[in-house]
Amino acid sequence: MHVSRFPRVHLAHLPTALEPMDRLSEALGGPRIWIKRDDCTGLSTGGNKTRKLEFLMAEALEQGADMVITQGATQSNHARQTAAFAARLGIDCHILLEDRTGSNDPNYNHNGNVFLDFLHGATAEKRPGGLDMNAEMEVVAETFRAAGRKVYTIPGGGSNPTGALGYANAAMELVSQANATGLLIDRIVHATGSAGTQAGLVVGLKAINANIPLLGIGVRAPKPKQEENVYNLALATAEKLGCPGVVQREDVVANTDYVGEGYGIPTKECLDAIEMFARLEGILLDPVYSGKGAAGLIDLTRKGAFAGEENIVFLHTGGSVALFGYTAAFDYSGPVMEAAE
Ligand SMILES: *Cc1c(COP(=O)(O)O)cnc(C)c1O
Repeated sequence: MHVSRFPRVHLAHLPTALEPMDRLSEALGGPRIWIKRDDCTGLSTGGNKTRKLEFLMAEALEQGADMVITQGATQSNHARQTAAFAARLGIDCHILLEDRTGSNDPNYNHNGNVFLDFLHGATAEKRPGGLDMNAEMEVVAETFRAAGRKVYTIPGGGSNPTGALGYANAAMELVSQANATGLLIDRIVHATGSAGTQAGLVVGLKAINANIPLLGIGVRAPKPKQEENVYNLALATAEKLGCPGVVQREDVVANTDYVGEGYGIPTKECLDAIEMFARLEGILLDPVYSGKGAAGLIDLTRKGAFAGEENIVFLHTGGSVALFGYTAAFDYSGPVMEAAE
């Protein structure tokens, strides 16, 4: 697997750190839990989309694009990282934001990622929830093209075979870090949404014969749909990488028990997981993805799903900026303590 065969803009801070979370591991009394810090990829507070965008943006430049268009939910981390990447390359970025939650909270609608989209100079337009957003985006792209712009469109989450190359590469990065220190990884756990992260990882792990099971914790779709999305993208990614046939259907496993009411609606377990990571490890999760991923990790650990001597790697996919769109979900509104006499 030689990803240098593909055009890439090297911009992410790689390799991201791989660190033990000993206070969390101790509190859960289960396996040793490690964290792979893809929240620290270096671009506008970081996150998993940066690895995908290294390949997507290189393709955009190769095609002579002067503008990228992408889409996502209102608090999309992908949109924010795309806006930042475009700024860095000196090209325009236009974003379609889908209202998937119906929230009227001003912080949700204007703070966090939305604030940063505009800070990076992107333009944006809104759509109600439930539309085919990639199709909406293509319609908008055509109007810009008719006006003479060279537009490159990026699907939601940057999840296509080009974007997934970033996570095939991340699988190699993680395994070489483990090999360098003699760490035996028993399982990798992460939040899965638009499927590119899990698809890329599963292809990378299988292509190098790592023999490490991968568990995606779903944040939106039911299990059959989520696994099908990941599997189909993994097949296309393996094809692109020149290793068709490496991924079997049973290599793709998603647990969607932690979605709750729906995408972007935090559950109690998600908020508890965010507080646990913040208070035991000083690490910021997010209420849409990594918080639900961690809620799954914590619950499964408590239920004894992993043996005590195992090493579990939690891939932190980023997203903490979205916390500022969700401050209302946390109740820290009480009075500040009076100064002691
Ligand atoms: C997009 C995202 C994910 C999910 O990754 P996919 O490749 O879309 O499955 C997980 N965590 C965060 C913080 C994200 O922004």
